[in-house]
Amino acid sequence: MDSEELRIFEGVVDRFLDEHAGPVETARWRSDGAVHKDVWLKAGQAGILGVSIPEAYGGAGADFRYEALLIERMGLKHALNFAIPLHNAVVAPYLVQYAAEDQKRRWLPDVVTGKTILAIAMTEPGSGSDVQAMKTTARRHGDHYVVNGQKTFISNGLHASLIIVAAKTDATAGARGISLFVVDTGKVEGFSRGRLLKKLGQEGRDTTELFFNDMRVPAENLLGGVEGRGFAMLMNKLPQERMVIAWQAMGMIEAALEVTLAYVHERRAFGSPVIEFQNTQFVLAECKTQATIAKVFLYHCTEQLLAGTLDAVTASMAKYWITEVQAKIIDSCLQLFGGYGYMLEYPISEMYKDARGYRIYGGSNEIMKLIIARSL
Ligand SMILES: Cc1cc2nc3c(=O)[nH]c(=O)nc-3n(C[C@H](O)[C@H](O)[C@H](O)COP(=O)(O)OP(=O)(O)OC[C@H]3O[C@@H](n4cnc5c(N)ncnc54)[C@H](O)[C@@H]3O)c2cc1C
Repeated sequence: MDSEELRIFEGVVDRFLDEHAGPVETARWRSDGAVHKDVWLKAGQAGILGVSIPEAYGGAGADFRYEALLIERMGLKHALNFAIPLHNAVVAPYLVQYAAEDQKRRWLPDVVTGKTILAIAMTEPGSGSDVQAMKTTARRHGDHYVVNGQKTFISNGLHASLIIVAAKTDATAGARGISLFVVDTGKVEGFSRGRLLKKLGQEGRDTTELFFNDMRVPAENLLGGVEGRGFAMLMNKLPQERMVIAWQAMGMIEAALEVTLAYVHERRAFGSPVIEFQNTQFVLAECKTQATIAKVFLYHCTEQLLAGTLDAVTASMAKYWITEVQAKIIDSCLQLFGGYGYMLEYPISEMYKDARGYRIYGGSNEIMKLIIARSL
């Protein structure tokens, strides 16, 4: 996966993170519950937004290796509360693949500059895993759709100005009744945001409820132009979303090992550094082995994704298994910090909190196992 261009890009990413996503900035994100819009604009200026958007629309036209590298560096530098991976590698691909040409020319350049922040809204208070049970409806009225319903747990929900909303255009057609709409929040009536939700971890990511009250969306904003294709589009894009989560988990695993190794060399107990205890060495040997296996599998899946052959089952294995390994490794690392591991001023404790969400969202790990089991 190595190349000269990738290394140059890595330097760009690291410079941005060192300047704008250090401990002071990330602490502010957590206390504010969001990354400020001006930081998004700075990320755009640095050239790390919309990396895989084609050059014709202002992006770098790069492949997923660049997104993976960006995500890994963000993880390593403990900056994953900044939801660039969601913006770049989860939501933007829907617009690139399914929006009409004039819409791409209108929307994508601002996605690259950070003027537009992206979100995707599937989950509702009464349905998360069971996507087909969603209650939000969209009914055609002339040249508009009238959307009613609500969504919850939406990442980037506070700042997003283009939101892909899943709604039922035919409540009797099951999966074939679901459609996706691009909601330009500044241009529609009947759209409102709920409260900023308080979370266990990832406090710097703005997660909100969204409400649609007779929200009028232009008919041309039906993604793909044909009703009932939403579920198929989601299924098509979910393998990449799962890889995005797996890469975030991987970056965090590597960060956890790095800070823990430094700590156990420095911290002393019973007259010697904590690394001298055989237990510490064995725990870290186990963690390093699990991390290495995870990385090899992640590379394997990423190569498949790049070749267009990654199937839903293998992507589910990556998301499920690597996030479980992430939880185990971070828990073991935290233990080696003793009481300091429980103190929020130590990044390992933030990683512990942040990691918990990974096993729940992007399809819970139980749903991942369901997908794997169905293939057996
Ligand atoms: C921090 C965070 C950010 C999020 N961001 C977004 C976002 O940007 N956009 C968005 O649309 N959603 C988002 N979500 C929502 C997330 O995708 C859902 O929470 C997730 O899919 C689970 O749905 P649920 O919460 O309704 O749980 P439920 O579906 O109610 O599940 C409850 C429990 O039952 C289990 N379960 C459910 N069905 C089965 C089954 N068939 N077999 C076995 N076990 C099952 C689940 O695994 C879980 O353990 C986010 C969630 C969080 C926590």
